[in-house]
Amino acid sequence: MKHLIRKCTACGAYTLAQKCPKCGGQTADPHPPKYSPDDKYVRYRVAERYEGDKDYK
Ligand SMILES: [Zn+2]
Repeated sequence: MKHLIRKCTACGAYTLAQKCPKCGGQTADPHPPKYSPDDKYVRYRVAERYEGDKDYK
């Protein structure tokens, strides 16, 4: 079973509802979707490094 806990973006209350029962604000999954930081960024940085090495000759 997947977790359904959500957090209000307005008041920070935890709830299972799409809308905060306290303030009616938007709730969001407090666990951000997984992404691989060593994919996009590393590639970008590597590319950047190659750009900087253009005058290596
Ligand atoms: Zn709230």
